[in-house]
Amino acid sequence: MEFNLSTEDNKRLSELYEKLQSKTRLFLGYPVSKDFDYTPLLPFLQYPINNLGDPFTESTYAVDTRELERDVVRFFAELFRAQQDNWWGYVTNGGSEGNMYGLYLARELYPKAMVYYSDSTHYSVQKNLLLLNMPNIAIRSQANGEMDYEDLHNSLLMNRHLPVVIFANIGTTMTEARDDVKRIKGILKNLAIKNHYIHADGALSGSYSAFIEPRPAFDFADGVDSIAISGHKFLGSPMPCGLVIVKKTNRDRIARSIDYIGSVDTTITGSRNGHSPLFLWYTLKKLGMKGLKERAMHSLAIAAYAEEQLKSLGIEAWRNQNAITVVFPAPSKWVCQKWQLASESGLSHIICMPNVDKDQIDELICDIISDPEQINYSFQKGPSEIAKDMSFSNTF
Ligand SMILES: *Cc1c(COP(=O)(O)O)cnc(C)c1O
Repeated sequence: MEFNLSTEDNKRLSELYEKLQSKTRLFLGYPVSKDFDYTPLLPFLQYPINNLGDPFTESTYAVDTRELERDVVRFFAELFRAQQDNWWGYVTNGGSEGNMYGLYLARELYPKAMVYYSDSTHYSVQKNLLLLNMPNIAIRSQANGEMDYEDLHNSLLMNRHLPVVIFANIGTTMTEARDDVKRIKGILKNLAIKNHYIHADGALSGSYSAFIEPRPAFDFADGVDSIAISGHKFLGSPMPCGLVIVKKTNRDRIARSIDYIGSVDTTITGSRNGHSPLFLWYTLKKLGMKGLKERAMHSLAIAAYAEEQLKSLGIEAWRNQNAITVVFPAPSKWVCQKWQLASESGLSHIICMPNVDKDQIDELICDIISDPEQINYSFQKGPSEIAKDMSFSNTF
């Protein structure tokens, strides 16, 4: 490859390119899709696109993709069954920013609220709570990663006098467990807690939960006040991005008009990536509702295949209902490194993103079988014994 640089620098970039290429193929442990092709959009890299400020308000800075951003927001507002004419949102730098935005709105509405989230929540959320200075309580999770509703009920009971912010997971990072928003609403109703706000962290599963039957309880019609998703996970994008959808009436309470940008300052950052709305828009147009649903179904089928294959080896693999994440006792370090598998408390997972196919699963399984370290680990000791050591076997 030629990058118009000195021989040495050219070599460095070529090597980097090759590394990225090979590492991308062996990638099963993190939830990012790789089956995108944005090369037709290369001409857009020539412009300093910036969606400064609010996507729904005109701005003085006109080298932007706000128009497409609004389409992307509208698409997801409708998919997430937001109330007609009461939705607003923007394309963020990722799921974390969207989650932070949801919490920020919640705090502006209920400055004295207590935040509840399960201890399977993404690591970025605690930092956001710290930055926002919001008091919070971690709720136990069940063995599958879903919030323990009894613990939630008891904790709410003790702080009944405070407004409530629930941070619900629609697909936890490790096991892709979904907290049941309808059930949470029921608990709040039982306790007669009127002042509440529910944010849904749909970074991974939010993008495709609407295509699943029976439809999980996770969206506006089920009672949430905001939803954040990641754009680079299920949809796929060369740079991290995401989306947050909130109720417009809530957003209106924090909008401030800024002369310098000729817009309102409703987003967290000033300058905003203008290329990612373009990429997301392109993906939505290319795939349409049908293509998106097919991707979700493909992922679910591959996950079912991976679970079966692992189980047939005697490895105690499992997954949550309608999850594309398959959880199993962590394989050897070598296998984890080769396939970039994250591990936590002795468990690993593979995430069957839309680009994953049976061949990759088979190749991983070959590695697991043929690795001498691995044989020591799972087969001499016996998988059920190992699973017992990890104390999750009796739940599944
Ligand atoms: C990935 C993820 C996040 C963070 O999203 P980013 O797009 O990486 O900022 C938050 N929550 C969950 C459950 C995630 O899987």
